[in-house]
Amino acid sequence: MLESLQPLFEHFDPIPYAIPFFLVTFILEYWILTHQKHEPYDVKDGAASVTMGVGSIFTTLAAKSVAYLIFMYIYDNYRLFDLSPTTWWFWVLLALGDDFSFYWHHRLSHEVRLLWAAHVNHHSSQQYNLATALRQSWTEEIYKFAFWVWLPLLGFHPLMIFVQMSFSLIYQYWIHTTLINRLPRPIEFIFNTPSHHRVHHASNVRYLDKNYAGILIIWDRFFGTFGPELDKEPVIYGITTNIHTYNPLKIASHEFIALFKDFHKARTWRDAFNYLVQPPGWSPDGSTKTAKVLQRELKELS
Ligand SMILES: [Zn+2]
Ligand SMILES: [Zn+2]
Repeated sequence: MLESLQPLFEHFDPIPYAIPFFLVTFILEYWILTHQKHEPYDVKDGAASVTMGVGSIFTTLAAKSVAYLIFMYIYDNYRLFDLSPTTWWFWVLLALGDDFSFYWHHRLSHEVRLLWAAHVNHHSSQQYNLATALRQSWTEEIYKFAFWVWLPLLGFHPLMIFVQMSFSLIYQYWIHTTLINRLPRPIEFIFNTPSHHRVHHASNVRYLDKNYAGILIIWDRFFGTFGPELDKEPVIYGITTNIHTYNPLKIASHEFIALFKDFHKARTWRDAFNYLVQPPGWSPDGSTKTAKVLQRELKELS
Protein backbone atom coordinates (compact mmCIF):
# COMPACT_ATOMS: atom_id res chain seq x y z
CA MET A 1 0.00 0.00 0.00
CA LEU A 2 2.67 2.50 1.09
CA GLU A 3 4.76 1.46 -1.89
CA SER A 4 1.99 2.36 -4.31
CA LEU A 5 1.71 5.78 -2.60
CA GLN A 6 5.45 6.47 -2.98
CA PRO A 7 5.13 8.58 -6.18
CA LEU A 8 2.56 10.77 -4.41
CA PHE A 9 5.07 11.67 -1.70
CA GLU A 10 7.96 12.19 -4.11
CA HIS A 11 6.39 14.21 -6.92
CA PHE A 12 6.97 17.92 -7.45
CA ASP A 13 4.57 20.03 -5.38
CA PRO A 14 4.73 23.83 -5.76
CA ILE A 15 3.21 24.54 -2.32
CA PRO A 16 6.40 24.21 -0.21
CA TYR A 17 8.09 26.70 -2.57
CA ALA A 18 5.22 29.16 -2.03
CA ILE A 19 5.43 29.07 1.79
CA PRO A 20 8.15 31.80 2.08
CA PHE A 21 5.99 34.03 -0.14
CA PHE A 22 2.96 33.28 2.08
CA LEU A 23 4.93 34.20 5.23
CA VAL A 24 6.40 37.44 3.88
CA THR A 25 3.11 38.73 2.45
CA PHE A 26 1.22 37.63 5.57
CA ILE A 27 3.50 39.71 7.83
CA LEU A 28 3.59 42.61 5.35
CA GLU A 29 -0.21 42.76 5.17
CA TYR A 30 -0.46 42.67 8.97
CA TRP A 31 2.03 45.54 9.23
CA ILE A 32 0.28 47.70 6.59
CA LEU A 33 -3.19 47.12 8.08
CA THR A 34 -2.19 47.83 11.69
CA HIS A 35 0.66 50.39 11.37
CA GLN A 36 -0.14 52.25 8.16
CA LYS A 37 -3.93 52.09 7.96
CA HIS A 38 -4.59 51.71 11.70
CA GLU A 39 -7.32 49.19 11.02
CA PRO A 40 -8.37 46.57 13.59
CA TYR A 41 -6.75 43.16 13.15
CA ASP A 42 -8.12 40.30 15.20
CA VAL A 43 -4.94 38.34 15.89
CA LYS A 44 -6.82 35.52 17.66
CA ASP A 45 -9.05 35.09 14.61
CA GLY A 46 -5.94 35.01 12.40
CA ALA A 47 -4.38 32.38 14.68
CA ALA A 48 -7.58 30.30 14.46
CA SER A 49 -7.41 30.52 10.65
CA VAL A 50 -3.75 29.42 10.62
CA THR A 51 -4.64 26.50 12.94
CA MET A 52 -7.36 25.46 10.50
CA GLY A 53 -4.80 25.67 7.68
CA VAL A 54 -2.25 23.52 9.51
CA GLY A 55 -4.93 20.94 10.45
CA SER A 56 -6.09 20.74 6.85
CA ILE A 57 -2.60 19.66 5.73
CA PHE A 58 -3.14 16.33 7.52
CA THR A 59 -6.72 15.74 6.41
CA THR A 60 -5.77 16.71 2.85
CA LEU A 61 -2.88 14.26 2.82
CA ALA A 62 -5.13 11.42 3.97
CA ALA A 63 -7.85 12.24 1.42
CA LYS A 64 -5.31 12.81 -1.33
CA SER A 65 -3.77 9.38 -0.71
CA VAL A 66 -7.14 7.68 -1.20
CA ALA A 67 -7.90 9.86 -4.24
CA TYR A 68 -4.49 9.05 -5.72
CA LEU A 69 -5.13 5.29 -5.55
CA ILE A 70 -8.58 5.68 -7.14
CA PHE A 71 -7.30 8.09 -9.82
CA MET A 72 -4.39 5.77 -10.63
CA TYR A 73 -6.76 2.82 -10.98
CA ILE A 74 -8.95 4.78 -13.39
CA TYR A 75 -5.95 6.17 -15.27
CA ASP A 76 -4.25 2.77 -15.64
CA ASN A 77 -7.38 0.85 -16.67
CA TYR A 78 -9.82 3.18 -18.34
CA ARG A 79 -8.09 6.32 -19.68
CA LEU A 80 -9.39 7.48 -23.04
CA PHE A 81 -6.27 9.35 -24.23
CA ASP A 82 -2.60 9.70 -23.36
CA LEU A 83 -2.26 13.32 -22.27
CA SER A 84 1.46 13.35 -21.62
CA PRO A 85 2.95 16.00 -19.28
CA THR A 86 5.61 16.83 -21.91
CA THR A 87 3.06 18.45 -24.24
CA TRP A 88 2.65 22.04 -23.01
CA TRP A 89 -0.86 22.61 -24.25
CA PHE A 90 -2.13 19.56 -22.36
CA TRP A 91 -1.25 21.60 -19.26
CA VAL A 92 -3.44 24.43 -20.57
CA LEU A 93 -6.30 21.98 -21.07
CA LEU A 94 -5.70 20.59 -17.60
CA ALA A 95 -5.73 24.08 -16.06
CA LEU A 96 -9.13 24.69 -17.68
CA GLY A 97 -10.47 21.27 -16.62
CA ASP A 98 -9.22 21.73 -13.07
CA ASP A 99 -10.78 25.17 -12.82
CA PHE A 100 -14.08 23.89 -14.20
CA SER A 101 -14.09 21.12 -11.56
CA PHE A 102 -13.24 23.66 -8.88
CA TYR A 103 -16.17 25.86 -9.89
CA TRP A 104 -18.71 23.02 -9.59
CA HIS A 105 -17.19 21.60 -6.44
CA HIS A 106 -17.29 25.05 -4.86
CA ARG A 107 -20.79 25.85 -6.10
CA LEU A 108 -22.26 22.62 -4.74
CA SER A 109 -20.37 23.22 -1.48
CA HIS A 110 -22.61 26.28 -1.09
CA GLU A 111 -25.83 24.88 -2.52
CA VAL A 112 -26.00 21.50 -0.74
CA ARG A 113 -26.17 21.81 3.03
CA LEU A 114 -24.23 18.62 3.84
CA LEU A 115 -21.33 19.92 1.73
CA TRP A 116 -21.78 23.45 3.13
CA ALA A 117 -21.29 21.98 6.62
CA ALA A 118 -17.76 21.08 5.48
CA HIS A 119 -17.04 24.26 3.51
CA VAL A 120 -18.54 26.87 5.85
CA ASN A 121 -15.42 27.23 7.97
CA HIS A 122 -13.63 28.97 5.09
CA HIS A 123 -16.31 31.66 5.43
CA SER A 124 -16.71 31.99 9.18
CA SER A 125 -14.07 34.68 9.78
CA GLN A 126 -15.53 38.18 10.05
CA GLN A 127 -12.32 39.68 8.79
CA TYR A 128 -10.87 39.31 5.33
CA ASN A 129 -7.13 39.08 5.00
CA LEU A 130 -4.41 36.65 3.94
CA ALA A 131 -4.95 34.64 7.14
CA THR A 132 -8.51 33.97 5.98
CA ALA A 133 -7.05 32.25 2.91
CA LEU A 134 -5.49 29.68 5.24
CA ARG A 135 -8.81 28.95 7.00
CA GLN A 136 -9.21 25.69 5.11
CA SER A 137 -11.73 22.98 5.84
CA TRP A 138 -10.81 19.75 7.60
CA THR A 139 -13.59 17.73 6.00
CA GLU A 140 -14.10 19.13 2.51
CA GLU A 141 -11.37 16.95 1.03
CA ILE A 142 -13.44 13.84 1.77
CA TYR A 143 -15.75 14.60 -1.16
CA LYS A 144 -13.75 17.20 -3.08
CA PHE A 145 -11.75 14.82 -5.28
CA ALA A 146 -14.93 13.24 -6.69
CA PHE A 147 -15.35 16.38 -8.84
CA TRP A 148 -11.94 15.78 -10.47
CA VAL A 149 -12.49 12.09 -11.26
CA TRP A 150 -13.18 12.74 -14.96
CA LEU A 151 -9.65 14.08 -15.50
CA PRO A 152 -7.75 10.77 -15.04
CA LEU A 153 -10.49 9.13 -17.12
CA LEU A 154 -9.76 11.60 -19.90
CA GLY A 155 -6.05 10.72 -19.69
CA PHE A 156 -4.33 13.22 -17.36
CA HIS A 157 -1.88 11.52 -15.01
CA PRO A 158 -3.07 11.89 -11.37
CA LEU A 159 0.20 13.59 -10.36
CA MET A 160 -0.31 16.22 -13.10
CA ILE A 161 -3.76 16.85 -11.66
CA PHE A 162 -2.42 17.29 -8.13
CA VAL A 163 0.27 19.73 -9.34
CA GLN A 164 -2.40 21.82 -11.07
CA MET A 165 -4.64 21.71 -7.96
CA SER A 166 -1.72 23.04 -5.91
CA PHE A 167 -1.15 25.90 -8.37
CA SER A 168 -4.84 26.76 -8.08
CA LEU A 169 -4.61 26.81 -4.27
CA ILE A 170 -1.58 29.11 -4.44
CA TYR A 171 -3.40 31.41 -6.87
CA GLN A 172 -6.34 31.68 -4.49
CA TYR A 173 -4.13 32.85 -1.62
CA TRP A 174 -3.37 36.40 -2.77
CA ILE A 175 -6.99 37.29 -3.57
CA HIS A 176 -7.87 37.23 0.15
CA THR A 177 -7.04 40.85 0.86
CA THR A 178 -8.69 44.25 1.11
CA LEU A 179 -5.43 45.98 0.20
CA ILE A 180 -5.79 45.39 -3.53
CA ASN A 181 -8.62 47.35 -5.09
CA ARG A 182 -10.04 46.65 -8.53
CA LEU A 183 -7.53 45.63 -11.19
CA PRO A 184 -7.54 46.69 -14.88
CA ARG A 185 -10.77 45.70 -16.62
CA PRO A 186 -9.49 42.84 -18.83
CA ILE A 187 -8.04 41.15 -15.72
CA GLU A 188 -11.28 41.61 -13.76
CA PHE A 189 -13.17 40.20 -16.73
CA ILE A 190 -11.20 36.97 -17.02
CA PHE A 191 -9.61 36.23 -13.65
CA ASN A 192 -10.81 35.76 -10.11
CA THR A 193 -9.51 38.83 -8.27
CA PRO A 194 -9.52 40.23 -4.71
CA SER A 195 -12.61 42.27 -5.63
CA HIS A 196 -14.55 39.24 -6.94
CA HIS A 197 -13.55 37.06 -4.00
CA ARG A 198 -14.46 39.74 -1.43
CA VAL A 199 -18.01 39.42 -2.77
CA HIS A 200 -17.78 35.64 -2.31
CA HIS A 201 -16.91 36.11 1.38
CA ALA A 202 -19.75 38.58 2.00
CA SER A 203 -22.74 37.95 4.23
CA ASN A 204 -24.80 40.74 2.58
CA VAL A 205 -27.92 39.15 1.08
CA ARG A 206 -27.21 40.68 -2.34
CA TYR A 207 -23.79 39.03 -2.46
CA LEU A 208 -24.70 35.53 -1.20
CA ASP A 209 -23.75 32.57 -3.42
CA LYS A 210 -21.77 34.60 -5.92
CA ASN A 211 -18.33 34.17 -7.50
CA TYR A 212 -17.43 30.52 -6.98
CA ALA A 213 -14.40 30.82 -9.25
CA GLY A 214 -10.96 29.38 -8.57
CA ILE A 215 -8.63 31.07 -11.06
CA LEU A 216 -10.99 32.14 -13.86
CA ILE A 217 -14.14 34.18 -13.18
CA ILE A 218 -15.44 33.26 -16.64
CA TRP A 219 -17.29 30.21 -15.19
CA ASP A 220 -19.40 32.48 -12.97
CA ARG A 221 -20.11 34.78 -15.88
CA PHE A 222 -21.09 31.79 -18.02
CA PHE A 223 -23.23 29.95 -15.45
CA GLY A 224 -24.92 33.08 -14.09
CA THR A 225 -23.40 33.27 -10.61
CA PHE A 226 -21.23 36.35 -11.12
CA GLY A 227 -21.76 39.33 -8.82
CA PRO A 228 -19.66 42.51 -8.99
CA GLU A 229 -18.42 44.36 -5.91
CA LEU A 230 -20.52 47.52 -5.64
CA ASP A 231 -19.27 50.80 -4.18
CA LYS A 232 -22.75 51.49 -2.79
CA GLU A 233 -22.74 48.26 -0.78
CA PRO A 234 -19.58 47.61 1.26
CA VAL A 235 -18.94 43.96 1.99
CA ILE A 236 -19.77 42.65 5.48
CA TYR A 237 -17.58 39.59 5.95
CA GLY A 238 -18.67 36.38 7.63
CA ILE A 239 -21.74 34.14 7.48
CA THR A 240 -25.40 35.09 7.95
CA THR A 241 -25.32 33.71 11.52
CA ASN A 242 -21.83 34.30 12.85
CA ILE A 243 -20.33 31.81 15.30
CA HIS A 244 -18.10 34.09 17.47
CA THR A 245 -15.50 31.49 18.40
CA TYR A 246 -11.77 30.97 18.01
CA ASN A 247 -12.01 27.29 18.90
CA PRO A 248 -10.84 25.27 15.85
CA LEU A 249 -12.98 22.26 16.82
CA LYS A 250 -16.11 24.42 16.91
CA ILE A 251 -15.11 26.17 13.67
CA ALA A 252 -14.77 22.76 11.98
CA SER A 253 -17.95 21.20 13.37
CA HIS A 254 -20.65 23.79 14.18
CA GLU A 255 -22.65 23.36 10.99
CA PHE A 256 -22.48 19.56 11.14
CA ILE A 257 -23.98 19.79 14.64
CA ALA A 258 -26.71 22.21 13.47
CA LEU A 259 -27.47 19.94 10.52
CA PHE A 260 -27.64 16.87 12.75
CA LYS A 261 -30.14 18.65 15.04
CA ASP A 262 -32.34 19.59 12.08
CA PHE A 263 -32.05 16.08 10.63
CA HIS A 264 -33.03 14.62 13.99
CA LYS A 265 -36.12 16.79 14.39
CA ALA A 266 -37.41 16.09 10.85
CA ARG A 267 -40.88 14.48 10.91
CA THR A 268 -40.54 12.43 7.71
CA TRP A 269 -37.63 10.72 5.95
CA ARG A 270 -38.26 13.00 3.00
CA ASP A 271 -37.74 16.10 5.18
CA ALA A 272 -34.63 14.54 6.75
CA PHE A 273 -33.19 13.84 3.30
CA ASN A 274 -34.03 17.35 2.15
CA TYR A 275 -32.15 18.85 5.10
CA LEU A 276 -29.04 17.12 3.76
CA VAL A 277 -29.35 17.99 0.08
CA GLN A 278 -31.28 21.28 -0.06
CA PRO A 279 -29.41 24.60 0.22
CA PRO A 280 -28.49 26.01 3.66
CA GLY A 281 -31.51 27.76 5.19
CA TRP A 282 -34.03 25.31 3.76
CA SER A 283 -36.78 24.10 6.13
CA PRO A 284 -39.92 22.06 5.42
CA ASP A 285 -42.25 24.86 6.59
CA GLY A 286 -40.22 27.75 5.15
CA SER A 287 -39.57 29.17 8.63
CA THR A 288 -35.89 29.63 7.72
CA LYS A 289 -34.79 31.03 4.38
CA THR A 290 -32.31 30.09 1.69
CA ALA A 291 -30.11 32.67 -0.07
CA LYS A 292 -32.38 32.49 -3.13
CA VAL A 293 -35.50 33.32 -1.08
CA LEU A 294 -33.72 36.16 0.76
CA GLN A 295 -32.54 37.61 -2.55
CA ARG A 296 -36.03 37.37 -4.05
CA GLU A 297 -37.43 39.25 -1.04
CA LEU A 298 -34.72 41.89 -1.37
CA LYS A 299 -35.58 42.35 -5.03
CA GLU A 300 -39.28 42.73 -4.27
CA LEU A 301 -38.49 45.41 -1.68
CA SER A 302 -36.32 47.48 -3.99
ZN1 LIG B 1 -16.99 29.40 -0.66
ZN1 LIG C 1 -11.87 32.43 0.07
